[in-house]
Amino acid sequence: MHIKTGTITNWGRYPAIRAELATPANRDEVREYIVAHDRMIARGNGRCYGDAALSACVLSTLALNKVLRFDKEEGIVQCESGVLLSGLLDLIVPAGWFFHVTPGIKSITAGGAIASDVHGKNHPVKGCFSNWLLSFELMDAEGRVHVCSREKNSDLFWQTCGGMGWTGVILSATFRLMRLPSPNLAQQTVRAANYEALFRSFEEMKGRQYAAAWIDSTSSGQQFGRGAAFFADHIDHKQVNSLPYPVKKPLNVPFVPPFSLLHRLTIKPYNEMYFRKNRSGTREVDLDEYFYPLDRFSNWNRLYGPRGFVQYQFCLPEKYSFDGMRRVLEMIGESGETPFLTVLKRHGDPAPEAMHSFPIRGYSLALDFPRTKGIRSLIDKLDDLVWSLEGKIYLTKDACSAPRMGRVDPRGFGESKFSSVLRQRLSAD
Ligand SMILES: Cc1cc2nc3c(=O)[nH]c(=O)nc-3n(C[C@H](O)[C@H](O)[C@H](O)COP(=O)(O)OP(=O)(O)OC[C@H]3O[C@@H](n4cnc5c(N)ncnc54)[C@H](O)[C@@H]3O)c2cc1C
Repeated sequence: MHIKTGTITNWGRYPAIRAELATPANRDEVREYIVAHDRMIARGNGRCYGDAALSACVLSTLALNKVLRFDKEEGIVQCESGVLLSGLLDLIVPAGWFFHVTPGIKSITAGGAIASDVHGKNHPVKGCFSNWLLSFELMDAEGRVHVCSREKNSDLFWQTCGGMGWTGVILSATFRLMRLPSPNLAQQTVRAANYEALFRSFEEMKGRQYAAAWIDSTSSGQQFGRGAAFFADHIDHKQVNSLPYPVKKPLNVPFVPPFSLLHRLTIKPYNEMYFRKNRSGTREVDLDEYFYPLDRFSNWNRLYGPRGFVQYQFCLPEKYSFDGMRRVLEMIGESGETPFLTVLKRHGDPAPEAMHSFPIRGYSLALDFPRTKGIRSLIDKLDDLVWSLEGKIYLTKDACSAPRMGRVDPRGFGESKFSSVLRQRLSAD
């Protein structure tokens, strides 16, 4: 087994901790490592933002990377947990299949998709990843393997979906795919002049399968909360035998600049340009352009410089969403902090059993903040507001929220073995 000690971070590049990283080549080595270590956490591709996949001992699943079965007739995939969604796309799209639920990034593992119970731009229609999950194998603290599904070990199944790795190590997974009628989507952009118009567009476009919006967090006055909403449906090209899926080589950010290139002086003009560029209208876009726009740049997280960045993603119940999100944007304006990316999504009812899944019926907002000295104090205030409005934060994005915001309850499923630094307050530097 490959084991090395070094500094590990997730996508936000904060926090950075010194840890042992083990990469077992097979399940026997996974068992060997689990049994020998008192506290450890599984890690997929480290695309969570904050501290979720970090601990003193970290077990990478990236070498568990085999596709075990692809049923092209039924649209069912069985794979080891370290398989990346990007690898699966290369296999399934040409055969006319796609994921029912995909996050806005494809370099995540199947295990990470389950442990965070990821959602996409179609949550009201399709729910979370667990909705399409048939079963998985989980290795527990003693090295025993449990097959979990809705019928078998269903408690463990639901504790693991969105359970952030605290139930054990997912070894493999089997899930359903959706028929893909074409490699393209009809995207309708609605450029909204202010906050009210942006929210209204979500209501007016409820029939569209996919929806997400960008908000200009630097806008004020009459333009406060302006943005662009992107709605889409798959185009139905009849009689397509094989679907092309050409993947363009991403542009790379080759090094970490000595300071963050993203701050108010650069974000404000960027937002102005982005707002002007995204005029209202309809056009045809491919899968990568609609679902994975950020994957056009690899290592874009380096733009935030050596201090990294934090993402704060929260969800509010429908009845509080409109006023609550507006208050959040106002608080950000008052704080002097400037998020680079601000993404609004609508969510439907969660599956009743999926107690750890993030989305609740309402809206979520994801905010990427450069990690300035003042960010922690703003996040404290946002936590208070989100808490008072019965909202939730997304643990897979979190680096510094108050421990009370964590909804994963590790009691009863092996806290002594599977633990991450999640929910701990780390020092600011
Ligand atoms: C640009 C970007 C866009 C994103 N967009 C979205 C989005 O639209 N929707 C969304 O829901 N998420 C989104 N995410 C978050 C991302 O999908 C999740 O954080 C996902 O879990 C990362 O998967 P990973 O394989 O990198 O896992 P990691 O980041 O390595 O780990 C994430 C969690 O899963 C656990 N875990 C990983 N593998 C296993 C395993 N085999 N067994 C048990 N536990 C395991 C870890 O312990 C950790 O708690 C986005 C992330 C980025 C960087």
